[in-house]
Amino acid sequence: MGKSKQKLSKINKFFVLVRIISDFITDILFPIKCLRCKKEGAFICKKCLKTIPKNSFQVCPVCEKAITLNGDLCVYCKKLGSSPLTRLFVVSDYKNKNLSKAIHLMKYSFVSEIATPLGELSVETMTKLGNFATPDIIIPVPLHNKRLRYRGFNQSELLAKTIATKLLPGINIKILANGLIRKEYTKPQMKIKDYKSRQKNIKNCFISNPLFEKEIAQKRILLVDDICTTGSTLNECAKELRKLNPKSISAIVLARQS
Ligand SMILES: [Zn+2]
Ligand SMILES: [Zn+2]
Repeated sequence: MGKSKQKLSKINKFFVLVRIISDFITDILFPIKCLRCKKEGAFICKKCLKTIPKNSFQVCPVCEKAITLNGDLCVYCKKLGSSPLTRLFVVSDYKNKNLSKAIHLMKYSFVSEIATPLGELSVETMTKLGNFATPDIIIPVPLHNKRLRYRGFNQSELLAKTIATKLLPGINIKILANGLIRKEYTKPQMKIKDYKSRQKNIKNCFISNPLFEKEIAQKRILLVDDICTTGSTLNECAKELRKLNPKSISAIVLARQS
């Protein structure tokens, strides 16, 4: 090992140690409490997780009007052929205070642990509605490296991990965390108000990873993201992935924010 590498690994070890100590102190000073009932032990307890409603039906992701099975495109929007996504499954409702609080904690207060119950909620909703063709590969919507360093984790990847292990008991669905690469650093979509600017903000932000060309070809892909606003992000991802010839591209989000 070169001297500079040795030095780097020492610095890394130092930061890991600092993190362990600071986590320990934080746990003592600020015990983990449920965001709803304040009971100690989890960021959202099992009982309060149950208060988050599971969508009992899905709509076409383009017109958002026609009720379709699992969020497939309706006949009309399918004919238009403008959507690279064939299905968008929405787990719950962002208007639910506990859900929006949980998502906020995860994204802006860096509570990565909350991704697990939210992933479980996603699986429960998918199984409840049934008929959800099991994906061959799961691809989380990537963050730009800069944001990843800042947050320390990609929330979509954490959600994807729970979905991948729990959707089919005993089977681990493959996750390609680098199936897509985010090359541009953009403003969060939530901070942009109108549809056109959102589309412009995210346009050509992603590239599909040519390393996985063979792996993705003819496979059923499931994209995972936390929130969907206009759908521009997922559409951009799907548009890029389509270049690698998958069989189909579906997506799942915790909620859709209009
Ligand atoms: Zn609770
Ligand atoms: Zn439609």
